[in-house]
Amino acid sequence: MTTVELKPPQISTPPTVNPLSCRRTRYIPKNQRRILCVFPQYERSFGTLHHAYPLTGRVRGFMPPQGILVVAAYLPEAWEVRFVDENVRPCTRKDYQWADVVITSGMHIQRERINQINRLAHQEGKITWVGGPSVSGCPEYYPDFDMIHIGELGDATDGMIEHIDNTVERPEQQIRFETQNRLPLDEFPIPAYHLVDINKYFLANVQFSSGCPYACEFCDIPELYGRNPRLKTAQQVLAELDAMLEAGNPGAIYFVDDNFVGNRRAMAELLPALIDWQKRNGYPVQFACEATLNLAQSPKILEMMREAYFCTVFCGIETPDTDALKSISKTQNLSMPILEAVQRLNSYGMEVVSGIIMGLDTDTLETGDRILEFIRLSQIPMLTINLLYALPKTPLWRRLEAEGRLNFEPGRESNVDFLLPYEKVVEMWQRCITTAYAPEFLYERFRYQCEHTYPNRIKVPNSPARVSKDNIRKGLTMLSNILLRVGVLGNYRQTFWQFAKPALKSGNIEALIHVGLVGHHLIKFAQECATGEEAASFYSQKIRRS
Ligand code: SF4
Repeated sequence: MTTVELKPPQISTPPTVNPLSCRRTRYIPKNQRRILCVFPQYERSFGTLHHAYPLTGRVRGFMPPQGILVVAAYLPEAWEVRFVDENVRPCTRKDYQWADVVITSGMHIQRERINQINRLAHQEGKITWVGGPSVSGCPEYYPDFDMIHIGELGDATDGMIEHIDNTVERPEQQIRFETQNRLPLDEFPIPAYHLVDINKYFLANVQFSSGCPYACEFCDIPELYGRNPRLKTAQQVLAELDAMLEAGNPGAIYFVDDNFVGNRRAMAELLPALIDWQKRNGYPVQFACEATLNLAQSPKILEMMREAYFCTVFCGIETPDTDALKSISKTQNLSMPILEAVQRLNSYGMEVVSGIIMGLDTDTLETGDRILEFIRLSQIPMLTINLLYALPKTPLWRRLEAEGRLNFEPGRESNVDFLLPYEKVVEMWQRCITTAYAPEFLYERFRYQCEHTYPNRIKVPNSPARVSKDNIRKGLTMLSNILLRVGVLGNYRQTFWQFAKPALKSGNIEALIHVGLVGHHLIKFAQECATGEEAASFYSQKIRRS
């Protein structure tokens, strides 16, 4: 199918300041439409914590999908919108039949499922629209969609809305809409949380900024979202938090910003507002975020994060090897010794989660041992240990392409031709992950966190928001599931009880639930990696069981 380019329409109405809750397209539709937004099931991966879900008794998905919920909120008010997250429930034939238009979105890893959704919608004769990060980076992955949306929310979105208002006939050729003028982040609507039950998710999420000032070789964020982070207002973030609480409360909210501290001045303005929100609401949630490790050099920000009850920070440490960090242009990790930075974050009550990449050009046969030694010294419990994978639109992709080192042979764990023999790299990865998540080693690191990190958090009050009937019921369900499925039926129950007995005795139930849930996923996932059931790269081409 060939592609034609359409210019998004010019909307001449002057911008109006909408109330936060009803910011939508300024396009006024002439027709009534039914829009089905489908978020595709994602591949299971290390970071989705799926083995923990059965222990919660309620969770079906990792996080509500922000992007498609923002689009759902942006559509004309008069249109009926139905939202299905396939991770929570399947999208039925009736859903497709109900709709005039089917919208989907997702990341590269969801590509296959995104295309399946297109086929299912076409079987029912519906016009389809795909947007989001994957199609924006690689439109060629989606040749059979009727309409593709390249880039972020903006004039292309208005153009597509106008198009489906005019007709819901499937076009003969694919129509491509590309955003030229992005909607400023501070004009974004609140994601359509009223369409989801947030209690069905492991975490809730919010976005304050988009983009990252750094340029790590393997990362597509600077090219997709820019190096000068764009920002929402603090007022907007608080309104989103309020809307989220109305839709449920999984107990933790993750700032999904590419780099939470990409703009420190903005942070210094947001954090007091978050502290105030937590105080006013009785600290209903813990916060988590992704940030560069050099956050450790900003004590004022760290102190405010502590006050706002940030308990987890994901840092892309990638490798403990200094030369390797230089070679992947990640020198921001070198501004202070890595172990010192991790300890500094721990001293503000934040548990560090770390990304680790194996298969870098600087790796040697000793790299696996060096990573394991780093894990032991840093006492970081959870590390996403992945094989290097080249994403399109990254400096890494271009370099490997020029060197003839992109490899698309089916069945491989990565599309990179490593300098070390492929089998050695995969073997080293497998050894690293199974050793790192051997129950005794993992629980030892969690024990360290209980002694050296968690006590540094502020003491939050037993407010009605925290000790509500609903929260107590959720906590008891999780605790009894953990005690039964891990403590009685688990194959590492002895290790579990060495940790659980003192925790129960001292009443440290919150830590016990956290460690029980997260630890169970990590241990089970690593056991599956050892048998080859799980893949070494988040983006692995290997066909998976599911
Ligand atoms: S710091 Fe993180 S978000 Fe920024 S370019 Fe590097 S990997 Fe990407």
